[in-house]
Amino acid sequence: MKAVTIFGAHDLRVVERPDPEPGAGEVLVRMGAGGICGSDMSYWSKGRVGDFAIREPMVLGHEIAGTVERCAPDVTTLIPGTRVAVDPSRPCLHCAYCRAGRSNLCSNMRFFGSAALFPHVQGAFAETFVCRADQCHAIPPAMPFRVAALAEPLAVALHGVRRAGEVLGKHVLVTGAGPIGMLAVLVLRHAGAASVTVTDLVDAPLRLALDAGADAAINVATEPERLARFEANKGHFDIAIEATGAPSALAGLFSLVRPGGRIVQLGILPPGAVGVPVNLLVVREIDYVGAFRFSAEFAAAVALLASGRIDMTPVLSADMPADRPAEAFELAADRTRSIKVHLHF
Ligand code: ZN
Repeated sequence: MKAVTIFGAHDLRVVERPDPEPGAGEVLVRMGAGGICGSDMSYWSKGRVGDFAIREPMVLGHEIAGTVERCAPDVTTLIPGTRVAVDPSRPCLHCAYCRAGRSNLCSNMRFFGSAALFPHVQGAFAETFVCRADQCHAIPPAMPFRVAALAEPLAVALHGVRRAGEVLGKHVLVTGAGPIGMLAVLVLRHAGAASVTVTDLVDAPLRLALDAGADAAINVATEPERLARFEANKGHFDIAIEATGAPSALAGLFSLVRPGGRIVQLGILPPGAVGVPVNLLVVREIDYVGAFRFSAEFAAAVALLASGRIDMTPVLSADMPADRPAEAFELAADRTRSIKVHLHF
C-alpha cells in the first residue's frame, strides 16, 4: 500500500509500504479522506511541530475517515464495510489520566502521525492502516468521508471551548482564522456566545469566518486599531481562544481580556520560552489555560457532524489526490486559497 511519508523538511514522498496486519483488538481501515492539519504542514515546512522533530521517515496524517476492511477475530464491535471516523489518539486506558477521563493527557499516548515519541507513531495518510477497534466511530451512510474527517479538528475545537468554561452570553475573541479557529467560531455560535470576534493577518479566511457566524473579523495586519479599541476600560472580552500559536498574538490578549476573564491556549507556540505580560495576568486575575487535543469530545464531534446542525461548508476547501501530496500541501499552506484540504487515494 502507498503512504504519504515525511523524510524531513520539504521532503514528502509517497512510498510503498507492506500491507499492515490487524493484531488483537484491531481492524484494518481503507482511507476514505484525510485532512491536512497545521501540524502535518509544520512537519512538512519545518521538519518539526513545536518541540517534536522528525528523526526518521514518518507517515503523516491523523484526520481520517474510511471503511473498515478487515477485523481481527476477537473484534465484536465492528464488521467489514462499516464507514467510520477514526480517532487518531490511542491512549493506554489504564493510567491515572485515562481513568480520570482525561485520556488526552495519557502517560502512554500513541497519537497517529506524531514525532512526540521515538520511534515515531506512524500516521494514516495511507491506502490502508491499522487501528484499535475502539478508535473507530461509525458514521451515517450518507456522510461524506471528508466531513467525517473533520471530527478530529472539531474535537480539538470542542475541547478548547470546553476549557474556556461557560461561553453562553460571553464575548469571545478567537485569534487565528485557520481550521481550528474557524471550527471554534462554529462551536461558539452553537454554544450561545453573545459575540464572536475573529482576528487574522489574511483577509480570505476572515471573510469565511464571517460566513461561519463571526460578528466581527479583524485583519490585525492592516487594521490593528480596530482590535486595539477593545483594550479600553481594562479590556472587553470575557474569553479569548488563542488559535494562532504566534507569541505576539498571545501577548496582546492580556490587554484585551477583561479582569476575571480567561485565555485558552490552543495554538502550539514555537519551541522554548515565550514572553507574556504576567503582571497583567496577576492584576486582572486572568485564567490562562492550555487545551491539548481532546478525549470524549471526539465522539461528541462525530455526533454533532451526524446531526447536521452545524454547516461545515466554510471549512471544506478542496479535495486533492494523495498521489501528489506536495501540491496538496502547497494549497493547504496557502491561506488565501484554503482552510482545510483533504487527501484521497
Ligand atoms: Zn493512559
